[in-house]
Amino acid sequence: MTRVFSGIKPTGHLTLGNYLGALRRWVEVDQHRSEALFCIVDLHALTVDHDPARVRRLTRQAATLLLAAGLDPERCTVFVQSHVDEHTRLSYLLECVATDGEMRRMIQYKEKAAREQRRGGSVRLSLLTYPVLMAADILAYGADEVPVGDDQAQHVELTRDLAVRFNQRYGHTFVVPKATRPKVAARVMNLQEPTSKMGKSDDSGPGIVYLLDEPETVRKKIMRAVTDSGRDVVYDREERPGVANLLEILAACRGGDPEDLCGAYASYGALKKDTAEAVIEVLRPVQARHRELCADPAYVDAVLRAGAERARKMARPTVDAAYRAIGL
Ligand code: ADP
Repeated sequence: MTRVFSGIKPTGHLTLGNYLGALRRWVEVDQHRSEALFCIVDLHALTVDHDPARVRRLTRQAATLLLAAGLDPERCTVFVQSHVDEHTRLSYLLECVATDGEMRRMIQYKEKAAREQRRGGSVRLSLLTYPVLMAADILAYGADEVPVGDDQAQHVELTRDLAVRFNQRYGHTFVVPKATRPKVAARVMNLQEPTSKMGKSDDSGPGIVYLLDEPETVRKKIMRAVTDSGRDVVYDREERPGVANLLEILAACRGGDPEDLCGAYASYGALKKDTAEAVIEVLRPVQARHRELCADPAYVDAVLRAGAERARKMARPTVDAAYRAIGL
């Protein structure tokens, strides 16, 4: 059976981008057709300036939202990265096969390091080595597939390179995984800056729809989305990124193809209105289930405990084999 691994960073509240680009497919596809692991990657949240209590709170919230969105702990493994030591154990070995140049070429590193510097902070070494830890997350479980949005494609490519290099040098140890991406909404863009992605770690609230936003907030944010001075609704990602983003969000929520939707709209206002309603409908059941789960913290605890136990059992043989192969 195919094994799937994917993760989400507790660096901010989960967004519509996380949902349409990742979570929804985990729920609708991956957990049904594969042996799937979904991880709240809390160690990755420490790579940038952070508040310890907030990381703990967001980790909990992300886990609750994953379950609220429909991940079924009977079908898949939901767990927290720091509960399973195998990730950091393996990460060190992979640092011994990765190169400094390789790390510095990562686009996300360049972007995030620049952002930290702009804020006057220093760049943590863990931000540079973060893709190695991500490779360890994936390789420890022998995952064949890693469902991710476009923003993570380069990191999965690096994971493949490290797996191949390790296997060539030290003998076959790791499965070489591949990234899989959603057909639509692989890259949901910020509503106020449609040329950058809707990322939960950004502080630009008005351009980001959060999964727990009230319907009225969702409506306001989408109605105020930046478009352009044109009037006709056409799908052109390069020239009309704002409108293309709305069409993609609408297509992802209602099903169908963004290009096919153009004909149905005579104005941007009508498109925005329908997009807002479609998003509100998609979020409604998730929010309702989230409220129920918040009232039952013992259930969430039990799911995470059992998930970590299962994950540990799966990862340990591979990580032990890697230690032996490399000479320890
Ligand atoms: P973020 O960038 O919001 O911090 P993560 O790195 O935690 O997100 O990614 C969790 C998953 O959500 C990944 O599979 C990532 O590709 C996906 N994802 C994040 N933002 C978007 C987006 N704007 N559009 C599509 N997918 C996204």
